[in-house]
Amino acid sequence: MVITYMKIDILTIFPAMFQGALTESLIGKASKKKILDISVLDVRSFSKDRHKKVDDRPFGGGVGMVMKLQPFYDAIRSVGIKKKNSFYKNSYAKPCVVYMSPQGKTLSNEILKNLSKFKHLVLVCGHYEGIDERVMDYIDEEISIGDYILTGGEIPAMVLIDSIARMIPGVVKKKFSVTNDSFYNGLLDYPHYTRPVTFKGHRVPNVLLSGNHKKIESWRQKESYKRTKERRPDLLKK
Ligand code: SAM
Repeated sequence: MVITYMKIDILTIFPAMFQGALTESLIGKASKKKILDISVLDVRSFSKDRHKKVDDRPFGGGVGMVMKLQPFYDAIRSVGIKKKNSFYKNSYAKPCVVYMSPQGKTLSNEILKNLSKFKHLVLVCGHYEGIDERVMDYIDEEISIGDYILTGGEIPAMVLIDSIARMIPGVVKKKFSVTNDSFYNGLLDYPHYTRPVTFKGHRVPNVLLSGNHKKIESWRQKESYKRTKERRPDLLKK
C-alpha cells in the first residue's frame, strides 16, 4: 500500500524543539505541499495539575522523576485515539501510536517501510525516567533509534519523521534517490561524484565520464556490492 498523505501528531513537553526540523528542507516543503500534515501538541497543556506539572516522584523510591500518565492519556485521546491499533489487527487506515523509547525495536529500513503505510502516526516523546508504564495500554509500537540514551524522545521523533517522510511519494523528488539509497535493497549506496573532474589531483573514475549508461550501471552495482562487503558484511548475510 502506498500513501500520498500522512498525518503526524507529536506529543511532547518541548514543542519548540521541533521548530526548524519541521519547517526547513524537504520536510518543510512536504508540509507546504500538504503531503505531510504535522501537529506538535504540548502535553503540559493537558495537565490537570494546578501548576501544570507533568512529572512526579517514582513509587517505590529511587532516583529521577517519572512522567505522569494523565496528561499523556488526555493528549492521546485528543488526537482521536480510542483503542490500540492492534484491536483493529494493525489496520493501516487506523492511527498507529508510537512511543519513542530506548527499550523498543531498533529503527531499521524494514520498520520504516511498514510505518510509512500508516495514514496517521502519533509520536509520544518521553523525558526523565520515562512515562508511567501504564501508558503502554495506549501504545502500538515502541521504537528506539539505537542502544544509547538521549535526554528525551524529541530527537528520536525527528529522526523517525525525517526517515519515514523520504518513503512517501512526492517528498523526495525522484523515486530512485530513495530506492538506490543504502539499505533500501539491502546494500550500501555506490560512490557519488560531481564537478570538477579533477580536484587537487583526485580524478573522477573514467567510466562515469564515458556516457555509456550500461557500463556506468554495472560499475555502480559492483561498487555498491564491494563497499557492502567491506563495510557491512552483515547486510550480505541477511
Ligand atoms: N529510564 C529509561 C531507560 O533506561 O530505558 C530512559 C529514559 S530517557 C532518559 C527519557 C526519554 O528519552 C525516553 O522516555 C524516550 O522517550 C527518550 N529516549 C531516550 N533514548 C532513546 C532512544 N535510544 N530511542 C528512542 N527514544 C529514546
